Amino acid sequence: MTVNRGVVYVKQGLVEVQSIPFPKLETPHGRKIEHGVILKVVSTNICGSDQHMVRGRTTAPAGLVLGHEITGEVLEVGRDVETLKVGDLVSVPFNVACGRCRTCKEQHTGVCLSVNPSRAGGAYGYVDMGGWIGGQAEYVMVPYADFNLLRFPDSAQAMGKIKDLTCLSDILPTGYHGAVTAGVVPGATVYIAGAGPVGLAAAASARLLGAAVVIVGDVNSARLEHAGKVGFHTVDLSLDATLAEQIEQILGTPEVDCAVDCVGFEARGHGHEGSQIEAPAIVLNSLMEVTRAAGKIGIPGLYVTDDPGAVDDAAKRGSLSVRLGLGWAKSHSFHTGQTPVMKYNRALMQAILWDRINIADVVNVQVISLEQAPEGYSAFDAGVPKKFVIDPHGLLKGAAC
Ligand code: NAD
Ligand code: ZN
Ligand code: ZN
Repeated sequence: MTVNRGVVYVKQGLVEVQSIPFPKLETPHGRKIEHGVILKVVSTNICGSDQHMVRGRTTAPAGLVLGHEITGEVLEVGRDVETLKVGDLVSVPFNVACGRCRTCKEQHTGVCLSVNPSRAGGAYGYVDMGGWIGGQAEYVMVPYADFNLLRFPDSAQAMGKIKDLTCLSDILPTGYHGAVTAGVVPGATVYIAGAGPVGLAAAASARLLGAAVVIVGDVNSARLEHAGKVGFHTVDLSLDATLAEQIEQILGTPEVDCAVDCVGFEARGHGHEGSQIEAPAIVLNSLMEVTRAAGKIGIPGLYVTDDPGAVDDAAKRGSLSVRLGLGWAKSHSFHTGQTPVMKYNRALMQAILWDRINIADVVNVQVISLEQAPEGYSAFDAGVPKKFVIDPHGLLKGAAC
């Protein structure tokens, strides 16, 4: 078997499904490895993080095979793989992690020190993340497989919930990490900025953690309508009422206990006119305004070191006008960075398998074929209230999910 097809970043605004090499058990630099596996991809999702690259807002090179949200079936195992066998159904954390370095040993697998020569942290199909080939494809290679992969206990049962389990590779652990690092506990009042898939996953996670009230904010009315339908309070930031005013209307106070940024650096401004323009620091600044003194702010929303499409020169280098003095005065805690997926994915798998969380309905999963990926990218970019899940081998069509 030597054929493979994948979603390739061609240029700003353009992705294509192309023939790509069948994966090999080797590093991006061509060193042979025996600790990896080759997966037949069962499902692979399009993410807001991919959109930053496709919109030309990163230094992603043309030809990059995209895709870091992967669920697959083990097709081939390297000689040193001990705990996995051909046929296992597995979830792949989007982080590539070695399991041997200091940060991996401390459970910070989002910033593994061994898998990316240029900075801490590796991922599949992502700019600056080590060159690991992406999994929006028919087949993909996963290194350090014993460490990285989460095996589903029963493949048939898992295929029955595959639209939920596909969210374990990134958005559900990411939303959950956002909620945990914002300090969500039973009875908490929570504000989530962003009603995209990550924001909705954070909202569902806050509910799972026992939050009393979860409020989701966006400038996109279709996404807010969907967030309302799946049970969350909403605030519309394209209205002229401020975020604090709208929170006060719901809670009777303009502050929340916990806040999560599920937007990142491509944030839109607030208000009727403001929402037409980009305002990269607005989410961070507004979260400091509406979070109570001594509260915590989780920041899974992505911020970059280089942004060729930024609004000004400072932002081109990732420098934003953040009002840190306000957060300092209120003794806020901030938590940033790539989610260490492995810290949460096993527990969240159990929550899915035992019907404690209906994440596929919350994020409105829509399954598409590999050939439909470019259409999925443009619909997602236009802001439809959906999470697109690519089904490269047609395996989800037949599954009872
Ligand atoms: P998305 O683009 O679908 O959603 C972002 C939403 O934010 C959009 O609906 C947009 O309208 C909304 N928005 C814009 N400005 C806003 C504002 N001022 N206030 C409130 N909402 C506003 O993306 P997604 O897939 O949901 O991902 C969200 C973010 O999380 C992205 O930046 C993505 O890169 C990041 N992410 C981070 C990690 C991690 O490990 N930390 C993992 C996955 C995704
Ligand atoms: Zn993602
Ligand atoms: Zn490591």
